[in-house]
Amino acid sequence: MSPSTTRLFNTISRKLETFEPDSGVDPSGRPQVTFYCCGPTVYDFGHIGNFRTFVQVDLLRRHLEFRGYSIRHVMNVTDVEDKIIRRVRETGQPLQEFTGRYEREFLSDLRTLNCLTPTVMPRATEYISQIIDLILRLEGRGVAYRAKDGSVYFSIQGYRDCGCRYGQLVNINPEELRVGERVASDEYDKQSVADFALWKARVPEDGKVFWESPWGQGRPGWHIECSAMSMALLGPSFDLHAGGEDLVFPHHEDEIAQSEGAGLQQPGRPFVRHWFHVAHLLVDGRKMSKSLGNFFTIRDLLAKGFGGREIRHLLLGAHYRETFNFTVEGLLGSRAALARLDECLGKLAVVAGAETCSENVDSPWMRQFLASMDDDLSVSRAWAVVFDWVREQNRLLSVDGISASEAAHALAFWHSVDRVFGLGDKPQDEVPVEVRKIAEERLEAKRIKDFSRADSLRNQLSDLGWAVEDTSAGPKFRRL
Ligand code: AMP
Ligand code: ZN
Repeated sequence: MSPSTTRLFNTISRKLETFEPDSGVDPSGRPQVTFYCCGPTVYDFGHIGNFRTFVQVDLLRRHLEFRGYSIRHVMNVTDVEDKIIRRVRETGQPLQEFTGRYEREFLSDLRTLNCLTPTVMPRATEYISQIIDLILRLEGRGVAYRAKDGSVYFSIQGYRDCGCRYGQLVNINPEELRVGERVASDEYDKQSVADFALWKARVPEDGKVFWESPWGQGRPGWHIECSAMSMALLGPSFDLHAGGEDLVFPHHEDEIAQSEGAGLQQPGRPFVRHWFHVAHLLVDGRKMSKSLGNFFTIRDLLAKGFGGREIRHLLLGAHYRETFNFTVEGLLGSRAALARLDECLGKLAVVAGAETCSENVDSPWMRQFLASMDDDLSVSRAWAVVFDWVREQNRLLSVDGISASEAAHALAFWHSVDRVFGLGDKPQDEVPVEVRKIAEERLEAKRIKDFSRADSLRNQLSDLGWAVEDTSAGPKFRRL
């Protein structure tokens, strides 16, 4: 393996760095990357903001795989946490039944977006004994303490007394953190305002959601779940940790504190070498919220007639460290860009015929593409290379200046690019349910001779990007 060529921004050093994993090789001898990504909290359908993070993480994984690494990708499922317990109480469903449904929906959305399945997807509820062991270890080192009600808290003061620093990912002013300041409220048994819960004692509202522990019945805090699962599956020190930018503080800072506070790492080795955070997605320039009516799940967009490939294209379009503004017009732009690409690929395939060509990563186009992706995943530059390539192929095709073997060679470039972008082939035009429904309503309107309604339904179809033709065999659909 040649030295690493990929540079990535590392949140912990606040610098662009050459990404150099240190996890040995996999059984086939390929250099290994140990990678943890905070997964979904399964209490509802994921929204497109969540999926921006997962699509960008998938892009990172695919790029590293293209560069020859073997990725051990762990993504947890948070299946016990405050919001989940509230919803379990409201719905009256057993915990596993409730979370199982949203976990399946999440996996189905990941497939719609063509994200690679993680190597392991641990559920927090299946790691309770590892979580308890980790808390016991923290307690033994004076970094955790039991409160009167049976909850266990992480002690920031105890952590600092071990010579560790709280505030590695974000600069924290100890004054602001108010370490050492006693908590006045009776509600908490915390010793200091800054301390956070590792184990939450059972309260009546928790219903049947609790586990036995050395501190009595209760459940884990959210932060400790990720420390326990990541270290159990990747070891106490691993290469890469990802999540959305909202997780930097406190979630990831607390993960570091718990994991390094347990002191399981070899001297001089950190819990995580490289931190990768994806900036937030806004919708129409605002934070997504149900009350603003700008809250979209993947299925909402599918119901509007868009496909997973179009959504992925849009979510891939902007650099991961830039806030991204999602609009429906943007999705229409993705549709147009993909149509341009597909048209070119279709023509090349016709010229190539039976001719095939193996991938050649050393072509000038590929070198430019990889140089852009190696530069902190500069997707805009990488797309510019692809569209320059499309223009050049269209020019050659228009002057008949391309042979079958050249066309096959050109297609091999796109196939290599797509191992990184993961857009997949143009789907067979599957007609979305919503579109079929509108077409049926239109037929009914025509049957009862309500032609103005039929026209307005036809307009609705074209807004969704579909044309319909009435034939003796029923409606025939065509993408516009
Ligand atoms: P959750 O299911 O809320 O735990 O979030 C799953 C992932 O989505 C986490 O990595 C979050 O940081 C990320 N996330 C949440 N909201 C957004 C958003 N608006 N834009 C991008 N990522 C987000
Ligand atoms: Zn996490």
